[in-house]
Amino acid sequence: MPSDLVIVYHRQPYEEVEEDGKIVFRENKSPNGIVPTLKGFFGRVDKGAWVAWKLAEDPANPGFEKVVEIEDSYGAYSVSRLPLTEAQVKSFYHVTSKEAFWPILHSFKEKYNYDPVDWPTFREVNWAFAEAAAAEAREGAVVWVHDYNLWLVPGYLRKLRPDLRISFFHHTPFPAADMFNVLPWRKEIVSSLLACDVVGFHIPRYGANFIGVAESLFDVEVAKRELVNTDFVVEGIALSERRMARSLTYQGHEVMISAAPVGVDVDYIASKAETAETTAKVEEIRAELGETKMILSVGRTDYTKGGTDQLMSFERLLDEHPELHGKVRLMHVSVSANRNMTVYEGIQNEIEQTAGRINGRFGSFEWHPVALISRAIPFDELVAYYRAADVAWITPLADGMNLVAKEFVACRSDGDGVLVLSEFAGAAVELKAAILANPFSHRSMDRAILQALDMGEEERRDRMESMRGTINKYDIKAWAETQMAGFAGKDGRLDG
Ligand code: UDP
Repeated sequence: MPSDLVIVYHRQPYEEVEEDGKIVFRENKSPNGIVPTLKGFFGRVDKGAWVAWKLAEDPANPGFEKVVEIEDSYGAYSVSRLPLTEAQVKSFYHVTSKEAFWPILHSFKEKYNYDPVDWPTFREVNWAFAEAAAAEAREGAVVWVHDYNLWLVPGYLRKLRPDLRISFFHHTPFPAADMFNVLPWRKEIVSSLLACDVVGFHIPRYGANFIGVAESLFDVEVAKRELVNTDFVVEGIALSERRMARSLTYQGHEVMISAAPVGVDVDYIASKAETAETTAKVEEIRAELGETKMILSVGRTDYTKGGTDQLMSFERLLDEHPELHGKVRLMHVSVSANRNMTVYEGIQNEIEQTAGRINGRFGSFEWHPVALISRAIPFDELVAYYRAADVAWITPLADGMNLVAKEFVACRSDGDGVLVLSEFAGAAVELKAAILANPFSHRSMDRAILQALDMGEEERRDRMESMRGTINKYDIKAWAETQMAGFAGKDGRLDG
């Protein structure tokens, strides 16, 4: 049966595990990651479909069903699994997407690696995704494509199926033209995006950047710029960007530009954070800390996350404030990257060395200033650290959104806790009541963490209340609504 909504996302929407010699599809309920949110859209249609890839030694003879029917708490939907070889996955994902696109999207020109890119393979994989989506979609269906590793899918889809309504969402930042146009495939990518009906971003600045890029490459007609949602306006956004065009027209086709920050499932996170088990764990952590203040930093080991810069700021704090020795601990969670990606090895070493140096310089038998954790902490446990922390210190150099910051706030129903957040995380446009820091400035970083540690209870509570208001207003449901606003009928359904 053809689908009313086809979601194209590179990963499969469940965990595939073997039980008693049989493959079963286990529902992945983790709140981190977008998969459960996207599956929630299947409730708005009669029939949904998902397109992802799956490793196969011989794609012509993959040894698994290419399309499987799934029934879980999100309803019944089908999943098309594109058989890709290890070489194809490495080329399209680990090399082209992570070594060429990722650094440019996050404005790290010096990390950009053009040489190993095999563009024909990138095209081939994107074409295969487009074909699989086209095969699932009914006449006029909505196809929703996610993220930069599938940039060419909309253009191919439009050729295959002019009838479809195509939406694309970027989960990363989108840079300005002088950065984006480093990519030699810029015209091919942007012309594919201009084949969409909607191109979505987290925040207005990224949308405005995209418009600038499109104008720099093509003769596009830009609609009148309108004031963006003023809740998302912060210092550092040019006045011109406070007004953003809602649409572009290219070769007679209108493309809507949307800016809506992905939110978190506040109730679900709060329910995880308030179980008896979590509360016991929080008490255990607090008892161990005693009078010591805990600073919590959580992220992946990636040069965009600014782990080393943050550790160096902590080292300066201890250098300049001996009175804090023994009084403060930094729990630095930096989850190791996929081993396939050599680009992340250097940063891992740098973080380990810096943390080791700080502990060596300042630590004692009783006190280790930095607890470095490289493994992923299960979410059920992470919420206990969110609750126990005095300060969450989240200072990426560039980050599309940063859900950790929002999860920390969602866990603080006690109304306490301080968030120090980088200006260059998308979340900063919403969480203006955080202490915003510029991670490229030592002075700004050092001042921010000291201010957080010194902050009195009243100010802490005022700021937290304001941030909790924001994450409730722009939660995951609000994001879902804005995403489908252009497509759904009054009843919110997509199949009308
Ligand atoms: N996370 C986790 N355990 C860890 C570290 C991170 O479960 O030890 C989760 C975290 O809860 C968040 C996600 O990983 O939901 C990271 O998302 P974010 O947007 O902050 O960063 P990304 O990794 O997507 O760049």
